[in-house]
Parts: sequence; C-alpha cells; structure tokens
Amino acid sequence: MTDRRRFFKDIFSSITKAAAEFAYEISKTTDNVVFPPGSDNEDRFTALCEKCGKCVDKCKSGVLEKHKKLNPILLDIPVMNFDNNYCEQCYSCIEACPSNALEKENLEKFKLVAKLLKDKCVAFKDMFCLSCYWSCPNIDKAITLRDRNYPEFNPIECKGCGRCINSCPTEPKSIIMVKIKND
Ligand code: SF4
Ligand code: SF4
Ligand code: SF4
Repeated sequence: MTDRRRFFKDIFSSITKAAAEFAYEISKTTDNVVFPPGSDNEDRFTALCEKCGKCVDKCKSGVLEKHKKLNPILLDIPVMNFDNNYCEQCYSCIEACPSNALEKENLEKFKLVAKLLKDKCVAFKDMFCLSCYWSCPNIDKAITLRDRNYPEFNPIECKGCGRCINSCPTEPKSIIMVKIKND
C-alpha cells in the first residue's frame, strides 16, 4: 500500500471510530437520570416535555437543571441534580409547567426514594462519616444506623428530598435517587 493510500485509510478509520463513539454516546440509556417531581414514566415524560425550562427557572432550591447530555431526547430536558441542592418539595415546578409533562396526580403514582450503594459508601470501608444520617429530616426512620456506623435506608419512610445525596462526600455519590411506583 502506498503512503498516500495508507494516509487516507487512517483518516477514514479515525472518522469511523469517532462516528461510532458519537452513536454510542447518544444511544446510552438514561440510567441515573432523575426527572422532576410530578413526571410520569420516562417515555411519557420525554414525549410531553417541551424543554421550555420554566420548571428549572421556578425551582426554588436550584436542584433542577437542564440536562447537558449529548442525546437528542435528553439534551435540555429538566433533571434533578442533587450536587446542586436538595428538593424542597414546594412543587413550583409542577405549577410552572405549561404542558402536561408535570402533574400533581403523578405524585400519587410514583415516589422518589434514596438508595444506598454500599460498595461506594465509606462507612462500609470502616471510615467514620454519618453525613447522610444527620442530614435526613426523617432521621431514625428513613435512615437508621446499624452498630452506630452503618447507614440503612428505609424506602417506606423516605420522603425523596435528596438531602442525604447532597451531603454525601464521596465522588461519585454513594446514594442515588430512584423512582418507584407508589403502592
Ligand atoms: S418541588 Fe420545588 S425544589 Fe423540588 S424540584 Fe420542584 S421546584 Fe425545585
Ligand atoms: S416546564 Fe414542563 S414542559 Fe417546560 S421544561 Fe419543565 S417539564 Fe418540560
Ligand atoms: S431522600 Fe430525604 S428523607 Fe429520604 S433518606 Fe435521604 S434525606 Fe432522608
């Protein structure tokens, strides 16, 4: 193969690789994306949301932000980022929504609950922390302590505020928010 042909072959290969990486990025699932309070299931919410940003503008705590992920469905959609703050559960976001993407009725259908990732939590590496425990407004119910050191989360008592996530010092966080159906 001549140098010229090899040169064009290498360029073509780089472009193909970059295109494959881009396609992979935009086709990733929405793992760990938490949509605002009052959202329905993912398919319905992403179909109804107009990405106007009114809920983000009205969010009192600043926990809502526009998603920055390079994905045609998710880019600019409102998501909860508990690095920013916790949710005050004021529901100004629902009141601000001009479409049916956020509705109070959905608060009855779904519940946000905090879930501990023990493999990341420093308490399970025998370090002292307790940040989540002390941050919880439902202390000793939503989060209890085993042997005065190991946090245990109770989804039935959890209010879904995200204070525990906001206070968690690990990077990435050792707690995630998950949406479950309200029984
Ligand atoms: S309920 Fe209030 S604090 Fe929570 S996301 Fe909506 S506007 Fe923000
Ligand atoms: S206010 Fe409603 S339609 Fe606008 S971005 Fe928020 S959820 Fe979507
Ligand atoms: S989300 Fe709020 S209520 Fe639930 S465990 Fe965390 S701090 Fe407690």
